[in-house]
Amino acid sequence: MYTYMYEAKGRFPEVDTPLPTKDGQGAGAYFNPVPETMSRAELEALQLERLQQTVRHCLTNPFYQKKFQEAGITPNDIKSLADVRRLPFTTKQDLRDTYPFGMACVPLRDCVRLHSSSGTTGNPTVILHTQRDLDEWANQVARNLWMVGLRPDDVFQNSSGYGMFTGGLGFQYGAERLGMLTVPAAAGNSLRQIKFIKDFGTTAIHAVPSYVTRLYEVMQEEGVDPRRDTKLKVLAIGAEPHSEEQRQRIEQMMGVKAYNSFGMSEMCGPGVGFECPEQNGLHFWEDYYIVEIVDPETLEPVPDGEIGELVLTTLCREAMPLLRYRTRDLTRVLGRTCPCGRNHVRLDRMRGRSDDMMVLRGVNIFPIQIEKILMQFSELASNYLITLTTDDNNDNMTVEVELAQPTDDYKQLQTLEREIRRRLKDEILLTPIVRLVNKGTLPVSEGKAVRVVDKRKVYQ
Ligand code: AMP
Ligand code: ZN
Repeated sequence: MYTYMYEAKGRFPEVDTPLPTKDGQGAGAYFNPVPETMSRAELEALQLERLQQTVRHCLTNPFYQKKFQEAGITPNDIKSLADVRRLPFTTKQDLRDTYPFGMACVPLRDCVRLHSSSGTTGNPTVILHTQRDLDEWANQVARNLWMVGLRPDDVFQNSSGYGMFTGGLGFQYGAERLGMLTVPAAAGNSLRQIKFIKDFGTTAIHAVPSYVTRLYEVMQEEGVDPRRDTKLKVLAIGAEPHSEEQRQRIEQMMGVKAYNSFGMSEMCGPGVGFECPEQNGLHFWEDYYIVEIVDPETLEPVPDGEIGELVLTTLCREAMPLLRYRTRDLTRVLGRTCPCGRNHVRLDRMRGRSDDMMVLRGVNIFPIQIEKILMQFSELASNYLITLTTDDNNDNMTVEVELAQPTDDYKQLQTLEREIRRRLKDEILLTPIVRLVNKGTLPVSEGKAVRVVDKRKVYQ
């Protein structure tokens, strides 16, 4: 039907890869053995070829034509992978400015799906997909789920919001592509979720981490022990920042491994990066993306190991390819090899987005730093809320956190509060107000958790 980037070359690697059979035979440890286990040299050669195709494809669109003219470059200037740095950056603002279809690189009649992220201000952003984009997306998600041991015999419950949020349909199609019985349970209604888990013999769940902790609390209330009463063996958690401590807590609660899943609507959705069984960072799939980490101020690359902003260039997207897209997510390169046999770059869990950073009395703080400390206290449950206020011209932070067990022992509560304050001060260099509240007091969202309420804004 379409002849965009790949038909001319007569091949499209992932879609053409033979899929494992329903009985789980045929792919061994890897879902897409060839691209997953390529050497760095092979991977980089593939990236260059796809980058050149992508650049030519982008130049069918007036937005990119203008950008290239401004930068004074042509597709012929992209001779090596390092030349990616000559390309212009793109941003969420570009997507807003060209809303809704200005960055499409194929006619609308060849697009079959639209996703949108709800912008907090101005236009939302729109992401279009051709059928081939959807096929590739499903392959990426299937690759990830296969990587952590899921096979067609598994029962996959997707307890994530459906609709415009890509965590719903993204995991749905990916889990189906792998061949699993896939339950589109969607988020919320925890009692029904637990019934499904038990009745259908669910072995794997995908949900945002804050929802998994909620699900566990309801299990406890209902006397359900996930180890004893369910067949769960794998959790995929992601879509929102969470600390290593939060992950470990989730693993202990549910008695299974929880793998970090990174997704982003602009790149497709979930499937962009995922932890392998080594759990030593997320493999970002370099046959699909060029991964750069840059200094957010100078936009120059930072050395491996240093924190910077993640910048992604799509290599296989037809409907809306994006060049050097500034994700605002902060992370660092951990390595480019792995005992699992995949040579795709490993990135550290996201610190958060640069827009999540709170600046309080001149100190830069990420919510995840606070979470990391809170999760170390066994007296505390997992739900917390950070509120920033201005009182008498002073900026203050209040950290409210739920207690694992209610108690009337005020002395004990005071000691606990004091200890939390002290540990938080060591981490964030200022002392917040700490309030311990009973379980169920703080709001729970069915989608991504809202961790920070900034009430200072009204004074600005
Ligand atoms: P959306 O496109 O609306 O689903 O949001 C994508 C954003 O969610 C990313 O840019 C990240 O800021 C955040 N995100 C997604 N997955 C993760 C993850 N595993 N860890 C931390 N943040 C994540
Ligand atoms: Zn690995």
